[in-house]
Amino acid sequence: MPHPLLSIRGCSQIYTKDSSAELAVLDDVSFSIEPGEIVGLVGRAGSGKSTLLRIASGLLKPTGGEVIWQGRPLHAPTPEIGLVFQSFALFPWLTVEQNISLGLEAQRLPRGVRQERTDWIVDLIGLSGYENAYPKELSGAMQQRTGLARALALKPNLLLMDEPFAELDHLTAENLRTDLIELWSEHKLPIQSMMLVTHNIEEAVLMCDRILLFSSNPGRISYELRVP
Ligand code: ATP
Ligand code: MG
Repeated sequence: MPHPLLSIRGCSQIYTKDSSAELAVLDDVSFSIEPGEIVGLVGRAGSGKSTLLRIASGLLKPTGGEVIWQGRPLHAPTPEIGLVFQSFALFPWLTVEQNISLGLEAQRLPRGVRQERTDWIVDLIGLSGYENAYPKELSGAMQQRTGLARALALKPNLLLMDEPFAELDHLTAENLRTDLIELWSEHKLPIQSMMLVTHNIEEAVLMCDRILLFSSNPGRISYELRVP
């Protein structure tokens, strides 16, 4: 039987605040992401959603449990797992195109391939005409699209998104969401699966096939909902 793309197995996370105080943020969290699905993770502020996403991406080693990526333990970040945050670390002195191409340079892809990838994703994500603009000349929405383009340019198998629409106004968020769902359903995105972390249940229902409801103190999955 083919294995899931990603499995989180019995993960827990305890942060040590200072020498004595400990904060249990995640307790025995387990779930899998299958190829082809969009999974939502919904929970209150401070419930440990971002912590869980950092664990799922290989950025943070959990205090307990393990992360299995395509059948093998994940010990470090991989370009196969893309991450998109609420607000992006766009470099102000680089253009949109240069910001997108950063990850490709880190992967040492030849210049021609980098240009091809950048052109393709700029067009796909709706940034045509903005290639040479600097971040400060962009609206919040266009900055968010640039961050998304940067992650997608690497053609990850799995895209993890942490509140990607939270800082946008209602209409802008809706536009970006609609574009993303449309690209996904037309199989134009270079990814197999997505995970969306949000505190907005309506957003999760609109975008996801399956929603994990997260309870706090410490964070655990309290309910799983399949969106019909
Ligand atoms: P939000 O909705 O505000 O984004 P969240 O669900 O993403 O919250 P986390 O950011 O994972 O939650 O944080 C969970 C808890 O862990 C919070 O109480 C936070 O203060 C604490 N925390 C997060 N990162 C660290 C860290 N590096 N060291 C110590 N405590 C941390
Ligand atoms: Mg968070």
